[in-house]
Amino acid sequence: MSAPENMRCGYVAVLGAPNAGKSTLVNRLVGAKVTIVSPKVQTTRNRVLGIAVIGDAQIVFIDTPGIFTPKKRFDRAMVAAAWGGAKEADVVVLMVDAKKGFDADTRDIVEGLAKYASEGKPRPVFLVLNKIDLVKPSVLLELTQRLNEAGKFDHTFMISALEGEGVDDLMGTILPGLPKGPWLFPEDQLSDMPQRLLAAEITREQVFLQLHQELPYAIAVETETWENFDNGDVKIEQVVYVQRDSQKGIVLGKGGSRIKEIGAQARAELEAMLDCKVHLFLRVKKHDKWSEDPRYFRALGLDYNA
Ligand code: GDP
Ligand code: MG
Repeated sequence: MSAPENMRCGYVAVLGAPNAGKSTLVNRLVGAKVTIVSPKVQTTRNRVLGIAVIGDAQIVFIDTPGIFTPKKRFDRAMVAAAWGGAKEADVVVLMVDAKKGFDADTRDIVEGLAKYASEGKPRPVFLVLNKIDLVKPSVLLELTQRLNEAGKFDHTFMISALEGEGVDDLMGTILPGLPKGPWLFPEDQLSDMPQRLLAAEITREQVFLQLHQELPYAIAVETETWENFDNGDVKIEQVVYVQRDSQKGIVLGKGGSRIKEIGAQARAELEAMLDCKVHLFLRVKKHDKWSEDPRYFRALGLDYNA
């Protein structure tokens, strides 16, 4: 660690429409998987801190659920968590999927940020066009122009969170603007997510990756028990909640083959993460109202009355 007078520590909120690549960027900068990623929208359901150390600075990234127009209670809570992340931050990053362009969700966020700027403390807002590996430079220039006409950004970056291009440049600009002061977390802490929740998220990520269409949105995962054995092994029991009986069959798969594969992949991931042998037991249960169940909101740290 460096001399105290050089130390910096600050919060950087990463906002954006669902699927923009927010969690991918946070994991890359933390250098470990602290937040789950999938090609489907609404993978991230709560606010997750990913903590990185770069030189003299500790940077606390606030990964947020995507911001979109919410209709249901659970959606409202996710979007509220995202805006709550922006309120806590010293720097805001607005991430836009360059392939998708300037969509309605992004327009709403740009407007929301303008409202925040007018009432809250002034803070830099950086525009980050992501997924540049997928689009032509001319598209990026046009998008930069349109977004900068619609909102006020201190800087525009073009990156590929997946491949890492442009990420150093982004961090090089963010770092000097962070407040001076002592680090807020222990040097080796990477996230604020409780282990039981992270373990449930790892399983939910497999559900998102292995099941198709709308099904993942109907699913929640909860860690019921966690036991550390004397020999170093860990036993974890989880419940996968579905909303309808028909979904139960899909999650189980033929002869239980799908849930077995979900469990196998999740277990491998958990073993790598915890560096020990993991005995993972999954069962599937119908709970048609999990998305209205205050317990699930509490487990994710979401506001039931948002
Ligand atoms: P979030 O919803 O904003 O957190 O987005 P995720 O981080 O979960 O990413 C959504 C999808 O976009 C995943 O399939 C990622 O692998 C993919 N993705 C993220 N960043 C990039 C990128 O720079 N290039 C490409 N091609 N894909 C990306
Ligand atoms: Mg995410």
